[in-house]
Amino acid sequence: MKCEIIRDLLPSYIDGLTSEASNQEILAHMEGCEACREILQEMQAEESKGIEEGEKKKIHPFRKLNQRMKMTILAVVVVCVALGGAFWTAFVKGWSIDPKDVEMNVAWEEGEVLLRFELLNGHVLNAWGMGDQMEMRIGLKQMLQFPGDDRGKYPGRFEYGISLEWMREGGETEDIMEYPVVIDYGKEKMTYTLGELLEIAEK
Ligand SMILES: [Zn+2]
Repeated sequence: MKCEIIRDLLPSYIDGLTSEASNQEILAHMEGCEACREILQEMQAEESKGIEEGEKKKIHPFRKLNQRMKMTILAVVVVCVALGGAFWTAFVKGWSIDPKDVEMNVAWEEGEVLLRFELLNGHVLNAWGMGDQMEMRIGLKQMLQFPGDDRGKYPGRFEYGISLEWMREGGETEDIMEYPVVIDYGKEKMTYTLGELLEIAEK
């Protein structure tokens, strides 16, 4: 057979569409013709490359499914983080307080300015106090009481004493009556001097 005829048959041959008789003719020709053999090899190489690409295309929908799954997982994580954040805020970290919801009493007791806070809205008062050379800062937050969490008889109350002795020993503040006491309600802050607090206490 002539090379041209063989080469015309090759695409069908590769696809397995040629008859057994044609196949034998083609193979017989290949044994004696290097040029056609090379063309067949090239065509087969391209064919297998095409199959690989086809397989990749078939894989694509899986990749899409995977992305959809990733989105679902992401959504679940976001919801969990949001719930966790709400839980954290409600029961652990607390949120800011309207100063109107807090009753503050100031007393002068045994060398201490005693600050008493009571949260009147029924929530737990989460409070801390910290002083350095610059100021005294009292942080107040409200939160919910976690079931089973024993917050004592008055979960809405907090007491903080500022010792004048301690202030004098610190010695850094020139006039301790000017020492600022910041009540931090979260969004709002109120600042008193120690002198102002003493005046309130004496009323
Ligand atoms: Zn040939």
